[in-house]
Amino acid sequence: MPLNVIVVGAGIAGLTAATSLCQAGHSVQIFEKSSFKTEVGAALNLLPNGAIVLKHLGFDFKRALVRHHATLQTINGIDLASLTRIDLSDVEDKYGGHMQSVLRADLHSELLRLSQLAPNPATLHLGSPIRSVNAVEGKVELESGEIHTADLIVAADGAKSICRSEVLGFHYPPVESGNYAFRFLIPTSDIKNLDEIREMIPGKLHGASIFADVNDKAKTRHLAWYECHGGEFQNFVGIYPAAQHVQDVDNRSQLLSQFKHFHPRIVEILRLADDVKVWPLLFDDPLPRYTRGRVILIGDAAHTMLPFSGQGANLAIEESGLLGEFFKHAEPAEIPAWVQRFESFRRKRIVTIKLLSRIRFGKENDAAYSLIEHDELDSADVPRSFHERLLYEWKHDVYDEVEKLGRR
Ligand SMILES: Cc1cc2nc3c(=O)[nH]c(=O)nc-3n(C[C@H](O)[C@H](O)[C@H](O)COP(=O)(O)OP(=O)(O)OC[C@H]3O[C@@H](n4cnc5c(N)ncnc54)[C@H](O)[C@@H]3O)c2cc1C
Repeated sequence: MPLNVIVVGAGIAGLTAATSLCQAGHSVQIFEKSSFKTEVGAALNLLPNGAIVLKHLGFDFKRALVRHHATLQTINGIDLASLTRIDLSDVEDKYGGHMQSVLRADLHSELLRLSQLAPNPATLHLGSPIRSVNAVEGKVELESGEIHTADLIVAADGAKSICRSEVLGFHYPPVESGNYAFRFLIPTSDIKNLDEIREMIPGKLHGASIFADVNDKAKTRHLAWYECHGGEFQNFVGIYPAAQHVQDVDNRSQLLSQFKHFHPRIVEILRLADDVKVWPLLFDDPLPRYTRGRVILIGDAAHTMLPFSGQGANLAIEESGLLGEFFKHAEPAEIPAWVQRFESFRRKRIVTIKLLSRIRFGKENDAAYSLIEHDELDSADVPRSFHERLLYEWKHDVYDEVEKLGRR
């Protein structure tokens, strides 16, 4: 019997969840607070565990102008010497898929298109903020005072989720982690010295690069750089310690100040950035619960992460895609029990990936691992090297997992 489902939020998690639930034959309404969601924040890495779900849902990677990375390099940001270089040509065999990048707006548009393609497309209510949720009764109340009921409520309302308090029973918003992130795009055609850069950094531009500040004792400051939108744009994410944030300057000046000691070629490129956004990076500990009654938290509402493993959106896509399979045959009266089963099924993976997100790629050493101790994790289950980490994070087919559970 089709379920009536409400999805709160039309971000990456909400649209993926709506698509998978529509494709499973359920009737889905999405309530989104903005009048139209324009995905901000430039691009992101699409990793095999997320991409496998998108493929299953019929996502058109070409239409979304997704790019494969040929290499993953760490480079000394000061003198451009190569520190590590990983050839990603065999990544599909090893880890189940490519490391790819996508402009957020392209990902979002394609997800929106998919959510409208099912025989019973999702109904999208824009400009419809939810004021409160009742998890036990399966009700949402809009700011307008309208009340809607559902068999299942998927809460994908992001890091500032209001649904989270209802699930936890107390207010527990994520807090600032002590790092800030710049995000910006530069049109590839604007970078006049690209050939020079290519010569200096073999593999650039069709690879992902991390320019590390080798002088930064805390090893925090770095610049991630990869292309997106079919190669038309170069995407940059710059991380720096909040303690070194310069007060009362505009974002572009802040960027140039934070990376002024980087190689002159890099600084020259950073000068081309004209629309620079800055975000405090948020974090929290794993939540004591991700579900209650008829409500499931997904995406940043459930697990706000640091961006070091590029898993925030990928994990959101993974769990959102799973919803359709998991609830395919569930009856309305059984939903609270199925919601609890969903949590048991997902919990360990969420906790592990969330804690790993504190650790940068290649830093899977003993010191860093002390950070990922947690009551719920057996140390034997925690990946012990970069290779093991990719096997755990990337090589994960959520549909195989649910099949093992005997629900397909
Ligand atoms: C610097 C940086 C780099 C990153 N890089 C990567 C990467 O490479 N790979 C990766 O996988 N992840 C990455 N992430 C993480 C990723 O951006 C997030 O995990 C992902 O965007 C979360 O999607 P979401 O749909 O859960 O939340 P959001 O995108 O925040 O969407 C929430 C939606 O809910 C709506 N909403 C909020 N409140 C209400 C309400 N009351 N009623 C109705 N609607 C509401 C909002 O308007 C919004 O549309 C990065 C994050 C940062 C900060």
